[in-house]
Amino acid sequence: MQNTATPTHCPYCALQCGMNLTPVEGGTVEVSERTDFPVNRGALCGKGRTAPAVLSSGVRLTSPLVRSGEGVLVPASWEEALGRIAANLSGTRAEHGADALGVFGGGGLTNEKAYALGKFARVVLGTSQIDYNGRFCMSSAAAAGTKAFGLDRGLPFPLEDIPRTGCVILVGSNPAETMPPSLRYFTELRENGGTLIVVDPRRTRTAEQADLHLAPRPGTDLALALGMLHLVVAEGRVDAEYVEERTSGWEDARAAAMAHWPEYVERITGVSVPELREAVRLFCAPDAAMVLTARGPEQQAKGTDTVGAWINLCLATGRAGRPLSGYGCLTGQGNGQGGREHGQKADQLPGYRKLTDPAARRHVARVWGVDPDSLPGPGRSAYELLDALGTDIRSLLVMGSNPVVSAPRAAHVEGRLRSLDFLAVCDVVLSETAALADVVLPVTQWAEETGTTTSLEGRVLLRRRAITPPDGIRSDLEVLHELAGRLGVEKGFPTEPEEVFEELRRASAGGPADYSGIDYRRLAEENGVFWPCPAPEETDCGGADRHPGTPRLFLDRFATDDGRARFAPVSHRPSAEEPDDAYPVLLTTGRVVAQYQSGAQTRRVDELNAAAPGPFVELHPRLAARLGAAEGDPVAVVSRRGRAVAPARITTAIRPDTVFMPFHWPGEGRANTLTNPALDPTSRMPEFKVCAVRVEPVTP
Ligand code: SF4
Repeated sequence: MQNTATPTHCPYCALQCGMNLTPVEGGTVEVSERTDFPVNRGALCGKGRTAPAVLSSGVRLTSPLVRSGEGVLVPASWEEALGRIAANLSGTRAEHGADALGVFGGGGLTNEKAYALGKFARVVLGTSQIDYNGRFCMSSAAAAGTKAFGLDRGLPFPLEDIPRTGCVILVGSNPAETMPPSLRYFTELRENGGTLIVVDPRRTRTAEQADLHLAPRPGTDLALALGMLHLVVAEGRVDAEYVEERTSGWEDARAAAMAHWPEYVERITGVSVPELREAVRLFCAPDAAMVLTARGPEQQAKGTDTVGAWINLCLATGRAGRPLSGYGCLTGQGNGQGGREHGQKADQLPGYRKLTDPAARRHVARVWGVDPDSLPGPGRSAYELLDALGTDIRSLLVMGSNPVVSAPRAAHVEGRLRSLDFLAVCDVVLSETAALADVVLPVTQWAEETGTTTSLEGRVLLRRRAITPPDGIRSDLEVLHELAGRLGVEKGFPTEPEEVFEELRRASAGGPADYSGIDYRRLAEENGVFWPCPAPEETDCGGADRHPGTPRLFLDRFATDDGRARFAPVSHRPSAEEPDDAYPVLLTTGRVVAQYQSGAQTRRVDELNAAAPGPFVELHPRLAARLGAAEGDPVAVVSRRGRAVAPARITTAIRPDTVFMPFHWPGEGRANTLTNPALDPTSRMPEFKVCAVRVEPVTP
């Protein structure tokens, strides 16, 4: 057992906090402070501190499982399990064609795994049907960012810029619960004299720290942004010189905003005109300001337009592509950023290249040693892929995702998974999705393997192996290598992460997310490198002239063809489901500090379960009184898609017309039983954040 501490990063969210891991008895590790990593400076939330609990035997899978003739999962050898997967995938392909095979990845997979999974789908299986759960996370911000700036990187500046700007508008983001160590950036902003505006239907722990909290009705933040832009124009606060020199499309965006006069916006959003005016004053007063969005505005059927409206506000006031100013998205999952750059997304090739771009296909095909014409085209988005299970898609390989809990309209998705001819799942624990599988493969996790992730800042980081995995467990890369071999592709799927990264560098070279100037040695030396980071020569990133990386984007020009940022001519429209007599209340969903995403890992940690033992329905005292519900009483929330039951949590922190449920749990309190899979037309993001429900008392 090695006794020295290994510097690495947290397995959970996109902040990717630095931590040290020291092996201890029992095959697990001890977490200690790692102060040399500047993002969290040693601070960790409870999830990061307790992450080693998921390494323990008894919690995790240690043997492959196959479904027996009696329909139960039983331990099996790797030979049998891999053989069964390969036989089923090739059988399905022979009978129904390559697109009858689906692959579903995850935003927690390392860059190397995401890259290898995308290559496996397209080269080995020949299917176009691959997407991942990151689609449910940040795809609207990615689509809007790409439209406006020509490039999507969650934050185009490091977090360290936040305390030095003048004002930050946080839209639909609750870092006090989702990534607590990041809260210090906003605290320091206020200590430095800056102001914080929080836009959220709930008075969250983050909103409590704001100088101004705007609580719009769920699904109306697009109108809110347009109302603010209207006032910017009406009050003469447009930065005309900046708009003229650095943007295009202003007149159409201006006309759309002018149709959203403040009183109209007040009626739509419930945010008063004086509050709107105050927000505009605070945002425009300092020389520099930022807008940061998260899942609130993004997880809507109009998420791309909503983010576009907030970007418009930045552009009209000259607050993008300038020091200490800009628009950014606070990405959620651990590798939500890198996971969308290297090929597990339905429409992308490594390096954030487009699958429909002939030059991109040629470049990546050359690296992969295949004919460009053999690469499939774009496939279905995540929800559409899940919705096609059992019909067009007959067999599915899932890696690092738990859609039974995390997908919208989850009962329907669970039914689609059950209707498959064959389901294989690679995971560290028997998640709710793995429990439905025909074959489950136990794989290594964060402390047991090396690999890279890309944080919400666009900083590529090296996670290092700190302990040896238990016997009987293999890495995802080994799984793909073994399956590729059994499916007739002997080469091209190395099992060493660094070897995969070297290939990823070549595949990404010249692309928007260019990693070619980054290697493991640099990552270890420099505490991460911001992409794009091209190599001086394709295969050599060493030497004095190596590219320094790009912490700040767009300072000289945007990544569009003409170098100008593009305004989005967007208008308010209602949510896909508005309240009516049958479903008169709005539901919004989100996270709690002690659980993470579908809870597959964190629900196995005693300390976290003690802090957040189960789902709840947050509702206003007025709504509770109408129902006759007291604190802790079970209440049912019913939407057009199903019914969920959880204890009432009564608080004035939520609007009277809205209820909130966290989405980490399966079973009768599963929030995603209720959510609406209406999709954004551009990003294909489901409308997790708003749907119409009724709330009913539950008679014991
Ligand atoms: Fe891990 Fe995120 Fe918590 Fe940091 S904030 S310790 S990265 S879960």
